[in-house]
Amino acid sequence: MAMLFEDWIKKDTKSVLLVEPDFPIPKKSRNHENFLPIGLLKLASYLRSKKIEVKLVRHENDSEKGDSNKLNLPITSKNDFKPDLICVTSIFTYWSKYVAEAVSYYKTLYPKVPVLVGGIYASLLPQHCKEYTKCDDVIYGTVDAAEELIPAYDLVNVDYQIIHTTRGCIRRCGCCGVYEIEPEWTYKKSIKNEIVKKKIIFYDNNLIANPFIKNILNELIELKKKRKIRYIESQSGFDGRILIKKPGIALLLKQTGLKNPKIAWDGPITDAKNIAKQINILNDAGYNAKEISVFMLYNHDLDYEEMDEKRVKCFEWGVQITDCRFRPLNSTFDNYNPNKRKGQTNKDYYIHPNWTDHGIRKFRRNIRRHNICIRHDIEFHSSLLERKKIPIKKAQEYRRATFEIAVEHIPDAWTPEVFHEVDEIEYDRSRFKKYT
Ligand code: SF4
Repeated sequence: MAMLFEDWIKKDTKSVLLVEPDFPIPKKSRNHENFLPIGLLKLASYLRSKKIEVKLVRHENDSEKGDSNKLNLPITSKNDFKPDLICVTSIFTYWSKYVAEAVSYYKTLYPKVPVLVGGIYASLLPQHCKEYTKCDDVIYGTVDAAEELIPAYDLVNVDYQIIHTTRGCIRRCGCCGVYEIEPEWTYKKSIKNEIVKKKIIFYDNNLIANPFIKNILNELIELKKKRKIRYIESQSGFDGRILIKKPGIALLLKQTGLKNPKIAWDGPITDAKNIAKQINILNDAGYNAKEISVFMLYNHDLDYEEMDEKRVKCFEWGVQITDCRFRPLNSTFDNYNPNKRKGQTNKDYYIHPNWTDHGIRKFRRNIRRHNICIRHDIEFHSSLLERKKIPIKKAQEYRRATFEIAVEHIPDAWTPEVFHEVDEIEYDRSRFKKYT
């Protein structure tokens, strides 16, 4: 049976090495602060409170050099640090191989030092984690003693802090693993004493379900007035059902200065009326439609056709879409490659029975083009225009034209305003040979 993390801290534990594996963090997440190893930072504070020295490193595979070390953490510890314990973090189950690589590396470098793995993958699939990574122990869930502490932000070079006002969620949606990772619903009444940076990112699964959300937002409004904070964002989408019941929350969110609110829309197209209501509440609170984003899960129960209809609705409302490709909670690999033009199969990544590889790529492309049109207030998107493949004069002439005019002259003009069949021919190359 797995031990508690605290049980691994012995009287003679003097130093602990904290490791972020070589996760393939996508470039777009760099500004998004999605992958701060917050669990390790909390452990660091806990260990320091016990007078234990800590070092945070990034394990990098030479064979897969990339630029995903966005925090510029020191790379792989050299022998100048002699840990008594090594803690490796994990995120998605389908990134398990990066965790295994890190464990293997440190077990070779320090054969006598126990290596623990914690985090989301470790909590969701503890048995798999233990056997596959060959770590000494798996730490399940959160470490209570560390949860109360302010994370050791001095170990990372960031200008923001992450805050959880709640753990768990009041709901149990079928597609979501929150109830397995954080089975207990807990919440804070106040966060003002936790604020140490001017930029705050909420990591709550369901922020506005916190029964004390109004109190917390009022605290933030006060701190904003005193110029103690200047930027707030929530990583997850808001639970719009709560916004409908308590529209006053939207006004408070706006007053805190919270940017880019997201509404979650995981249900069917028949929910459109409710989603429209939720967007209107945010509009009435002062958010422009294009600042708002609708969070959508695809490659799940709703098929391509229904998802693209939902996308068209979002265009009608003038809002952007934050898309999320579903992977099962027990999926231990994901080699989806958006650049593979010839396509991939279920052997490469999870494809839901209601979806195809082609449909997934097509929907993803639709979302990208949709968002570009919303952000730039334009009626159509063209990859040829975007890649500067259209003669400059023609490009200038039609860039801001209506779709009806553009489509006669720009071969791949695509409008977000209508539903797109999964198998539509994106443009007839024979009509526009000179561009192909
Ligand atoms: S509301 Fe969101 S966080 Fe809560 S269970 Fe559903 S999907 Fe998960």
